[in-house]
Amino acid sequence: MGERLSTALQEKLAKRLSFYQDIGIEFFYRDRASQQQPVVTVDAVGSPAPFSPGATLPKPFQKPQPVKLASAAPPLPRRLDVLPVVAGASLFEAMNKIADDSLLKIQADLGSDCTRCKLHRGRTKLVFGDGNPKAELVFVGEGPGRDEDQQGLPFVGRAGKLLTQMIEAMGLQRKDVYICNVVKCRPPENRAPEKDEVETCSPFLLRQLDAIAPKVIVCLGSIAAQTLLETNRGISHFRGEWMQFRGTKLMATYHPAYLLRNPSAKGEVWKDLQKVMAVLGLQGKKGSQTVKPS
Ligand code: SF4
Repeated sequence: MGERLSTALQEKLAKRLSFYQDIGIEFFYRDRASQQQPVVTVDAVGSPAPFSPGATLPKPFQKPQPVKLASAAPPLPRRLDVLPVVAGASLFEAMNKIADDSLLKIQADLGSDCTRCKLHRGRTKLVFGDGNPKAELVFVGEGPGRDEDQQGLPFVGRAGKLLTQMIEAMGLQRKDVYICNVVKCRPPENRAPEKDEVETCSPFLLRQLDAIAPKVIVCLGSIAAQTLLETNRGISHFRGEWMQFRGTKLMATYHPAYLLRNPSAKGEVWKDLQKVMAVLGLQGKKGSQTVKPS
């Protein structure tokens, strides 16, 4: 029999569920062993085990059973007062079950005045992303800079101009691809986003990638690559090599801002992009031998 939640834990649970609802997750899963408990327990909420990536469905699959929260629980967000519980599945799998997810819905869920992490304090405009919602190629950067923060669009400053040149050298235009960042608000002084900020904002990036379902993801810089690959290894360990992100080909390369400071690295980036072009069947713009600075 499960342990009843204290009022403090009920409030914590309500807050957690509200956050999950914000990012579009309305169904939760736990393994069959914990289905014996008729009341949601601390473990069912606090443990990441039911949501861990790579979890497999026990066999035979058991029909979901609703679990009611303790009657003294504070009001929960709509449609979260009864949680269907099925055999274990990962958070990613749960997210994949969200029907009708689209960039518009994700943007609406995120809102234009998000305060979920401390980056909102210095933000002028939230930068959700821009481009073709059905793009075969998605570029993921780290976070908005000053120009992006002012305009509410990704990669529009000097580094953005270089990225545009890179895209055009591949034989594409910006409107053909989708461009977004790990965090949607500018970190102060253009510092790298911190762990808690990445953890809070990146679920929206994951939903964007799910909704677009590109053939190839290009990570610009280490933060984007480390976030999607869930690694602490430096980008030099895997830059230029094909990696996998949930079944999608992922190429990590240097951030255009790095290329502005280190133009000699442009040749390496161009080699990486040529590998992407080969997968996408792109011939490249005639005469483009390398990525030229603006
Ligand atoms: S960075 Fe993301 S989570 Fe943080 S305030 Fe901006 S939109 Fe919200």
